[in-house]
Amino acid sequence: MNAEILAIGHELLMGEIVDTNSSYIAQQLAGTGITVRWMSHVGDDIDHLADAVRRGLERSDLLISTGGLGPTSDDLTREAVARAVGEEMSVDPDILAWLRDVFARRGMEMPPTNIKQATLIPSATSIPNPNGTAPGWWVEKDGKHLVLLPGPPREIRQIWEQTVGPRLASMSGTGVIATRTLKTYGLSEGGLDEILSSLFGRENPYLGIYAHTDGIHLRMIGRGPDRSAAEKVIEPMEAEIRRLIGDAIWGADDDTPARRAGALLVERKQTLAVVEGASAGTLASLLHAQPGRESFFRGALVPGSGPVHAGHEPATVDPDGAIILAQLARDSLSADVGLSVTPVSRDTAEEGATPAGSVFIGMVSDAGTHVATGHFPRRNAEWVMQRSATMAIVELLSALSSNRI
Ligand code: ATP
Ligand code: MG
Repeated sequence: MNAEILAIGHELLMGEIVDTNSSYIAQQLAGTGITVRWMSHVGDDIDHLADAVRRGLERSDLLISTGGLGPTSDDLTREAVARAVGEEMSVDPDILAWLRDVFARRGMEMPPTNIKQATLIPSATSIPNPNGTAPGWWVEKDGKHLVLLPGPPREIRQIWEQTVGPRLASMSGTGVIATRTLKTYGLSEGGLDEILSSLFGRENPYLGIYAHTDGIHLRMIGRGPDRSAAEKVIEPMEAEIRRLIGDAIWGADDDTPARRAGALLVERKQTLAVVEGASAGTLASLLHAQPGRESFFRGALVPGSGPVHAGHEPATVDPDGAIILAQLARDSLSADVGLSVTPVSRDTAEEGATPAGSVFIGMVSDAGTHVATGHFPRRNAEWVMQRSATMAIVELLSALSSNRI
């Protein structure tokens, strides 16, 4: 079965919002073994929309759209689909009763414009939307399937998990895909490629390698008649990768460096304090968002144009300075581990020790000290803030796991 995703809305064509719905749907379809052949964007224009729907139904077995199911006059997806398949829309009494009830529960009267959200065409059934007022449509016509979903990402996720995902999984005869991602640090793409060369090039499981800001990711994809069979296909490959590069793996699947670092600190009953000249608070917000932060995160010092404390010049940092700053955070916030992320001072750079556009990451605990250097040749401040914060956490994770600090 091949599929096509159609993201609808002028906001998309104006570049005002990023189309995350299509990537979400594509990921979900990959998991059900359905191949996506096309993805396109179209504005809220009934002629263009009807064209896109007709063309989609011609060339694909399954067409999934997002957006344009709202109550306003620029929400035209239903009208366009009715036109494309040559059917009349009519109000469905059950959906209308449900919709009135949604408004009643919000203590509001339903505005007449919302009635169109209660319409169907003869070849469509309604897809419940527990988070909004726009139910989806599932249209079956001439052996083709057309699934209309609303725009808001939160609504799509729930509709997918409850209705669309399970129904597509049972429809697709091609089996199920399971994926597993192992996340690494300290190794280059080329280095990993060499160590794992015997594992690449297989079809089932398939191994892909991807560079991300938090290190190189290894993604395994296994296929099987059902989920547990697909997962079984991956197991021996995962075991082999872990045997070969186990020390370099810091997490899997949805793990983030901040979550892993937080979990490790909680497990070790240690607390952390940071001083961040380069990442300017980004590290603090990342750590603040982690579960268990009350027990491991003591706080952050974010220097501006003034010194973090008397006697410290804000930007004057060399490797020793990075440790002194980490120690300062540790002492002043009474933490077990101190971490500093500081831009390399111009003076140090000019001496040729480390190029400008770099940061020092300093770490200190009772067990020892460690300094890492990150190079960020692009000078966009926001980019350096994000990248240096990610790198600081990955380095912290690495130093903690290897007991260097
Ligand atoms: P509503 O009832 O909210 O109007 P709708 O089905 O008409 O829902 P749209 O009006 O197209 O959907 O989009 C509503 C909001 O959902 C958009 O403002 C945007 O924030 C988000 N959204 C829409 N399409 C996408 C997309 N492809 N990717 C990510 N977000 C999207
Ligand atoms: Mg809308």
